[in-house]
Amino acid sequence: MKIRYKIHLVMLLSVALGLLLGLLFYQAQRDIDAANTLERQASVIAMDIFQLTLLGQDLSLHPDEYRARNQWLKQHQKLGELLSEVRFDTSQDKTVIERLRHAHKIQLQLFEASQLLPRRLRKSGTAAIVAEQQERLVYRMSFGVQAMLSDALSLQRRKRTEITQYRRKVFGISLVLAGIMTSTIAVLAYLIGRSIIGPLLRLRRETEIIGSGDLGHRVGMTTNDELGDLSRDFDRMLERLQQVTASREELQHEIEVRVLAEEALRESEQSLKKAQGIAHLGSWEWDILGGDLAWSDEIFRIFGRQPGLFDPTYDAFMDAIHPDDRPLVAQSIEKVLHGQGYDIEHRIILPSGDSRVVHQIGEAEFDDSGKPVKMRGTIHDITERKRAENELHEANGRLGAQLQEIEKLQETLREQAIRDPLTGLFNRRYMEETLVREFAGAKRENYPVSLIMMDIDHFKKINDTYGHQAGDLVLQALGELLSGHIRGRDIACRFGGEEFLAVLPHTPIVTATQRAEQWRASFEALRMTYEGKEIRATLSLGVASYTIHGNTGQEVMASADKGLYMAKESGRNRVVVAPQADG
Ligand code: GH3
Ligand code: MG
Ligand code: MG
Repeated sequence: MKIRYKIHLVMLLSVALGLLLGLLFYQAQRDIDAANTLERQASVIAMDIFQLTLLGQDLSLHPDEYRARNQWLKQHQKLGELLSEVRFDTSQDKTVIERLRHAHKIQLQLFEASQLLPRRLRKSGTAAIVAEQQERLVYRMSFGVQAMLSDALSLQRRKRTEITQYRRKVFGISLVLAGIMTSTIAVLAYLIGRSIIGPLLRLRRETEIIGSGDLGHRVGMTTNDELGDLSRDFDRMLERLQQVTASREELQHEIEVRVLAEEALRESEQSLKKAQGIAHLGSWEWDILGGDLAWSDEIFRIFGRQPGLFDPTYDAFMDAIHPDDRPLVAQSIEKVLHGQGYDIEHRIILPSGDSRVVHQIGEAEFDDSGKPVKMRGTIHDITERKRAENELHEANGRLGAQLQEIEKLQETLREQAIRDPLTGLFNRRYMEETLVREFAGAKRENYPVSLIMMDIDHFKKINDTYGHQAGDLVLQALGELLSGHIRGRDIACRFGGEEFLAVLPHTPIVTATQRAEQWRASFEALRMTYEGKEIRATLSLGVASYTIHGNTGQEVMASADKGLYMAKESGRNRVVVAPQADG
């Protein structure tokens, strides 16, 4: 039940009880008033009756006296008026009043009778009888008046008593009603209070929990009164607050994410700037339709211009290009606007007059109709790289030449290491290395290797006779002969002094012997002249052959000439070829 209805009920009840109490008081007051009036009237009547008794005594003393009779009568008439005016409610009062009225009537009748009596009796002439009759009448009258007085006084007394009783009754009723009213209101107030205070405390407890920050909490009161309504309204408000808080948190989160993203973007822009600075690489964007050309800071640096002081336009850009390269750049831009790639290197001129080399890459953006609307790309300062490249190129050229020289020198050295300087034939060391290889090959593939040993006869004598240079001439002559007459894979070498050796792989001993004889004949036919003197020399030959025995697989060294010997120390994997001592 709604609290206001409860309060209305208490108020109604209070008003009803108040009305009832008022009614009772009104009623009681009316009764008291009536009793009061009657008591006052009874008192006046009693006073008048008392007056009447006094006048009655006067009258009894002077029954014929006019003044006494008149006074009595007047008093009686006054009493009659009073009695006729009296109002009464109760039957008891009615009885008394009617008795008084009746007594009053009787009194009047008695008085009239007493008035008539003297005249009548006077006619009969008996004074004693008149007096007696008169006395009897007065006596009856005074007796009647006393009875009236007694009635009036008893009425007055009774009314007084009634008034007191009424007052007590009113007081008692008031007390009882006030008690009932107070206790009823107190009980109702307690019940209403309990039905309000309990939920109010609960509301306070729940709102304290919510107030401490738990927005998910609900008051959740289900009563059907104003507090229930308040709870439901509060919960609805919480619901809304929660939604608002959630959306605010979402918004907050979004803002934080955006701030972070913006920070990251700023950092990335800074990094890009730094990276562009480190790489000497700037980026640009050209709005072809609007005509705006945007340069990154690094491009301003590359072109030696101040951002803010220089307005990068297409024409300003073209002006900064080296005059010789302008046609190339203009053509390239024309090409890229027709959908081709943009990848060029060219020079630019700085305000200081210095030049730089840049590498440009770019591409165009086209609208739906294929019309170019934008172009963007990068400019890379490659001046240093170009300089380094040029230097490297030059250094490479120098290095190449040096390398060739070294190679030549190395070749010479190699040749020197294996050649005999005087005759140009291979030297003995080279021959020994070759011979090991040749024997290994011969053993592996089973082919003969023949050796021809040559010794110029009496060479010491030639030296002695014609001189050392003449000896050299002879040595050179044999060298030339051998060089000119050996096959591609034969090896001729100067073995030492005036001794020469030829190695003939894949050559059997017979063939080698024939070849040796041919060489000897040729040498001995030579006419060598030194300082006008003819020098002739003869040659001693020794031919040997290295073969693998067909059946046993053993190495066989055969010699066809007794003038030379050859030995092979196979254990050291080395062949020693030495001329045989004379004898
Ligand atoms: P044989 O062969 O019978 O032993 O006697 P030979 O006189 O022909 O040879 P020998 O071994 O007795 O002497 C060789 C000489 O050759 C000794 C040396 O001075 C000389 N000789 C060595 N190398 C050269 C050289 O390069 N040029 C000249 N001109 N002489 C050289
Ligand atoms: Mg010799
Ligand atoms: Mg010799």
